[in-house]
Amino acid sequence: MIQPPGSDRPSAAIGPDRWDQAHQRLVATLRGLIRIPSVNPPDPPGPELEAARRIRDWLAASGIPSTIYEPAPGRGSVVARLRGDGSGGEPLLLLSHLDVVPAPPDRWTQGPFSGAIVDGYVYGRGAVDMKDLVAMEVEVFRLLAEEAAADGRDPATEPIPGLRRDLLLAVTADEEAGGLDGAGWLVDHHPEHLLAAGALNESGAVSLDIGGRRLYPIQVAEKGYAVYRITVHGTWGHGSMPRPDNAAVLAAEAIKRLSAPGAPRVTDVMRDFFNGAAEALGGDAATLLRAIADGDADRAEAAIDRLCAPVYARAARALVRDTISPNIVHAGVKYNVIPGEATMELDCRLLPGTDEAAMRAEVIDRLGPDLASVCDIELVTAAPAIVAPADAPLYRVLEQAVRDHDPDGIPLPVMAPFSTDNKSLARLGVPAYGFSPLKLDPGEAYLERYHGVDERVGLDALRWGLPVLYDAVRRFCG
Ligand SMILES: [Zn+2]
Repeated sequence: MIQPPGSDRPSAAIGPDRWDQAHQRLVATLRGLIRIPSVNPPDPPGPELEAARRIRDWLAASGIPSTIYEPAPGRGSVVARLRGDGSGGEPLLLLSHLDVVPAPPDRWTQGPFSGAIVDGYVYGRGAVDMKDLVAMEVEVFRLLAEEAAADGRDPATEPIPGLRRDLLLAVTADEEAGGLDGAGWLVDHHPEHLLAAGALNESGAVSLDIGGRRLYPIQVAEKGYAVYRITVHGTWGHGSMPRPDNAAVLAAEAIKRLSAPGAPRVTDVMRDFFNGAAEALGGDAATLLRAIADGDADRAEAAIDRLCAPVYARAARALVRDTISPNIVHAGVKYNVIPGEATMELDCRLLPGTDEAAMRAEVIDRLGPDLASVCDIELVTAAPAIVAPADAPLYRVLEQAVRDHDPDGIPLPVMAPFSTDNKSLARLGVPAYGFSPLKLDPGEAYLERYHGVDERVGLDALRWGLPVLYDAVRRFCG
């Protein structure tokens, strides 16, 4: 008999009623988390700790002990472990974060901390970044623990049936501000909760409809960053007699030079992504994608415009170059005083292969000798780009889990233009993959939901994703 694709998947051993219960509980977990306004920066601190305690209680209800760390008052992260029999190697880590960015409620059609369900979507800040995956990871933990209990084992102390390696959970505070009070702190003080053969974290394996096909970009790499504070020195004076070395005028020219897009550089990860997508799509789209992969600046620009909706075009452009975005600018003390000093902060994002020193050299080069000579450049913070292998067993498991649940879907390795807590894991040498599997309605502008208005996630997308994550965990740990 010919088996349908994915019929040997571990999730097939669980009946539809059980999956339905798990889905309902996942949605309740997500809504419960959305209703805790764990905004970062917290004012006052506390909601992250409250969310960590809520997760501790949910885990405890399924017999799973957990530990909460509070490196600063009100900043809570929660960790837990399920045991394998130890014969399968290093653990797998499920990582996620509890905090969210602020959500000014104007223009939202539902309260950003309501968790309202409207037309099949759960609304609220964190619905996609990333309380959805927190809820999925917690649910996978609960399912496994309950399977152990049904088998007469205590999931707090005994191995989960079928697991050969341990499964770790770390749900952290402070990701949206760099993770110093969350994943970064755990790396420095309790790395034993994070040391693993590999980790799964936010923002990959979300379906992307393009050219009539469904791609699932799985994040294997993240750009790094370098933030610079630049002080521009001009000459103070009386506003009635304009002067060319007005620091605001110099800063404006500096911004113009810095913000012009640089030359493209197609890294191995993105070349594989564009070529893989070209192979899958064929036709005109393939020609355009290969033009982007080739890295010829003019042809690539035209191809991106023809191929992509604006938000994806911005992402594509950012993924083939080091970028500089001047995001804070200050000058002036009074309307009739020419400012002698201006400050700006540059958000620079680095491709693999560009280090902080190279980025600084690029900034100086773009300023030119005339402006560089009147600027002080100070590094505020930096983190290198990271790349996890796409030819590794864990990545293969992720691909297979997606294909099992969407035989027409095309998983592809991709880079993220932003940075996550994975940068902290990289300090421990733990390779991390973006894997928050969701099969979206075609046309759902997922990327615009990140930090956006009316952030929301589809119930059907969650229903599809939970068994995908379950299978990935069971296959890698089994
Ligand atoms: Zn996030």
